[in-house]
Amino acid sequence: EMVVKKNFIHQIVEEEIKAGKNGARVHTRFPPEPNGYLHIGHAKSICLNFGTAQKYNGLTNLRFDDTNPTKEETEYVDSIKEDVRWLGFDWGDREFYASDYFGKLFDFAVKLIRDGKAYVDDQDAETISSQKGTPTRPGMESPFRNRSVEENLDLFMRMKAGEFNEGDRVLRAKIDMASPNMHMRDPIIYRIMKTPHHRTGDEWCIYPMYDFAHGQCDYWEGITHSICTLEFEVHRPLYDWFIDQLMDSDYRPRQIEFARLNLTYTVMSKRKLLELVKDKHVTGWDDPRMPTISGLRRRGYTPASIRNFSDRIGVTKVDGVIDVALLEHSVREDLNKHAQRVMGVLDPLKVVITNYPEGQVEEMEAINNPENHEAGTRQVPFTRELYIERDDFMENPPKKFFRLSPGTEVRLRYAYFITCNEVVKDETGKVIEMRCTYDPASRGGNSPDGRKVKATLHWVSATENVKAEVRLYDRLFTDEEPDGHKDVDFKDFMNPDSLQVLPDCYIEPFVKGAKPLDSFQFERLGYFNVDLDSCGEKLVFNRTAQLRDTWAK
Ligand code: ATP
Ligand code: MG
Ligand code: MG
Repeated sequence: EMVVKKNFIHQIVEEEIKAGKNGARVHTRFPPEPNGYLHIGHAKSICLNFGTAQKYNGLTNLRFDDTNPTKEETEYVDSIKEDVRWLGFDWGDREFYASDYFGKLFDFAVKLIRDGKAYVDDQDAETISSQKGTPTRPGMESPFRNRSVEENLDLFMRMKAGEFNEGDRVLRAKIDMASPNMHMRDPIIYRIMKTPHHRTGDEWCIYPMYDFAHGQCDYWEGITHSICTLEFEVHRPLYDWFIDQLMDSDYRPRQIEFARLNLTYTVMSKRKLLELVKDKHVTGWDDPRMPTISGLRRRGYTPASIRNFSDRIGVTKVDGVIDVALLEHSVREDLNKHAQRVMGVLDPLKVVITNYPEGQVEEMEAINNPENHEAGTRQVPFTRELYIERDDFMENPPKKFFRLSPGTEVRLRYAYFITCNEVVKDETGKVIEMRCTYDPASRGGNSPDGRKVKATLHWVSATENVKAEVRLYDRLFTDEEPDGHKDVDFKDFMNPDSLQVLPDCYIEPFVKGAKPLDSFQFERLGYFNVDLDSCGEKLVFNRTAQLRDTWAK
């Protein structure tokens, strides 16, 4: 068993509960921006926020950080809700939107202006940024910094009324142009954007910046622990400065940062994932090769496997890259316990059992899951014509090859011993059929004379089966850190062989009627689940993971 790393956030929470801070309450939030589909990094944040609240009998809000109408859409809101729910978390009726607070945020901005703590700047963004200075050199004050309260109020109202064009004016907090923290140098808190918003339509043409919205929403929702990723550490003084201006009781939310999750062999930013979707490198956000929650779901990952993965990687303050093999290990571990075993042949080679009666169908008993005896057994039909895996046969085998070859005897799982007597080839010399005999005394897989065979093969009846398409996946990128190279675009590392489609596979009849997302272990081959592209009788399977575990414990 792997050791679960100690969670420093839980330590902080426990100390604060002990000290009675915020009435010893725990209230977290998960704050996605609806500008894309959630990925495995978000899953980490979801598990951390909901998991922390669950552990300390607290609550978690789902809050959409929808302050930038140019990038946000309702489709993304819906997918985010579906993904959080699927992971197994419930926000009850605590579904919020930063846009719900546009009125309150506007009023708060007006209060800052009245208090002499905010001003309208007529300079464009480029000029403002050129005046910011450097961490070691103070910035330059804007010529508009000392406007009167009345003039600021008038201009801000006119910004809201739509009198100015985008970029003509911004509202800035008046803090300290010499602060060693660049985020405190009069940050922009409102900008003009004449884009309709997916929820508020064209009610607003000025929008608050993320930093101006986030902490205030936390405050108004009574959030106690605002957990975010490390890049926001430098924003914390600003978060606290706004809260200072708002506070009217002892209650105070606390921002806590942790290292974002990065995984090997993939990229993990919505902007880059969107690029893959738009440029059709993948079939969509839920392409089974994507590190999105919807992609992992479609690939056959279970909610428990993702939650376990999230627990295992722990919570740290140091950025790092997690080996994707650990994620694969988690799904294997979960499916090993729960997935139904079946036999399927992906690259079929026909076997004719010449001494087996034509037209006879015999039911062989097979174990559904050796890890779970309650799963019971099923019947698998055995017939004169069967398929085995092409690479389980070699006409001229090397010494250590124990599977089928002319003259050798092997076991067919749950069935009989067979011996290969003859090979049938097509005009190109390709083996298209094998003619074998079986030993009727070996029914169930053992011969009464104690004869040993060195290999057990999986098989499917050539007449009693379900035909299916199987999709095999490999990593989407050939490089461990595709976006970790200067001057090289991450898309240059796309793996051209990340998808392999096998159109003519045969699976035992048990899978007939299986529904999208149902998971199976195909014996000896790996874990597979039913893809959404399956339709009616036609089943499509995705390989979720191979059986071989590459995770080094
Ligand atoms: P991206 O760059 O992928 O778009 P983001 O941080 O801009 O990520 P948000 O929608 O703002 O995306 O994120 C919602 C929450 O999920 C935030 O609290 C954010 O810190 C957290 N989060 C995002 N990416 C990761 C990650 N890779 N690991 C852990 N938490 C993450
Ligand atoms: Mg964000
Ligand atoms: Mg983002």
